[in-house]
Amino acid sequence: MIKVENLSKKYGDLVVLKDISTEIKKGEVVSIIGPSGTGKSTFLRCLNLLDQPSAGSISINEENVLNKKTDVAKIRQKMNMVFQSFNLFSHLSVLQNLTLAPIKLKGLSAEDAEKKSMDLLRLVGLAEKAHNYPDELSGGQKQRIAIARCLAMEPEIILFDEPTSALDPTMVSEVLSVIRRLAKEGMTMVIVTHEMAFARDVSNRVFYMDQGLIYEEGSPEQIFDTPQKERTKAFVNRIRNLIFNINSQDFDLYGINAEVESFCEKQFLTKKLRDHLLLLIEELLIIYKPFLNDLAIQLTIAYSEKNEALELISESDGDKFNPLESEKLPDDIGLNLIKNFSSKIHYAWENNKNTFTISIKK
Ligand code: ADP
Ligand code: MG
Repeated sequence: MIKVENLSKKYGDLVVLKDISTEIKKGEVVSIIGPSGTGKSTFLRCLNLLDQPSAGSISINEENVLNKKTDVAKIRQKMNMVFQSFNLFSHLSVLQNLTLAPIKLKGLSAEDAEKKSMDLLRLVGLAEKAHNYPDELSGGQKQRIAIARCLAMEPEIILFDEPTSALDPTMVSEVLSVIRRLAKEGMTMVIVTHEMAFARDVSNRVFYMDQGLIYEEGSPEQIFDTPQKERTKAFVNRIRNLIFNINSQDFDLYGINAEVESFCEKQFLTKKLRDHLLLLIEELLIIYKPFLNDLAIQLTIAYSEKNEALELISESDGDKFNPLESEKLPDDIGLNLIKNFSSKIHYAWENNKNTFTISIKK
């Protein structure tokens, strides 16, 4: 239904979209997730011709929409968009907001447009608000009206740009329920969203966008449970990192401890977990210390908000070096402490890089 080839978009020197190619089939629901500023809105705006792509092609039902002769208004009817900020006309009643475009652009009679609009208001659960004005409605109601208004144009595809981001948390679910219902009825939709649980159960496919690319795509299970690429993993597991580069025996342990403590505080880690982490860092650094004049290590503390899992990772380049098999191991106490506080210890040496990972017991 939608075919995008080598789409790119620049604003001056700023490259926002780099070479995006994809296809979306009729009846598919595609969710787009990713950090902010990675071009998700720009991608939707290009699809809908609100932004002119810098290069590439977009076709809908095999019709090239970037062709100069294309009727842009018609394309926007076929592929209608719902925005974060509703964009309702405040001087028109709810019903008038819905009937305006069908009368003007589709040539419906006022009577037909009203009848159809009332059906759509029933669909989104707001028929009784037909004669109210947008300012008299809550955010969730406004967004449901905006969805009904979009449906009034009988689109073949709906693009949603963060439809629930401007809402109070209590109103998110009423809007998501309406979108879920459209999905069940087979509507083709592309949804930019930060609601991960929703993206997971409503979509056929998920695009993870990062740095102007569809960085990884797959089924919801693939993207949320077994992402393959580093940035996707960090995003879906909501991983927060604290990184130290240590390349001398004179590293500042107090400075490191202070930063780790404030990191733990920000992540709301328990005091017990924080104390274990601090001890583990100290013991690990004692093991590395004799080597630190020749060896540089990168120490990462990674916390997954989603899994509430804490890891301590040390990485070093060069020859194989597993800290637990070092010939200069200090006493057993440190070693036992590392074993006792960890649920899993993993060591790998690949491409001349050592990675030693301690998963810390909760
Ligand atoms: P997202 O929706 O993923 O948060 P956007 O598509 O809104 O990202 O923006 C991607 C990048 O493009 C951002 O760096 C943003 O500042 C820039 N950008 C968006 N629109 C414009 C514009 N009209 N002019 C200049 N830069 C823009
Ligand atoms: Mg956006």
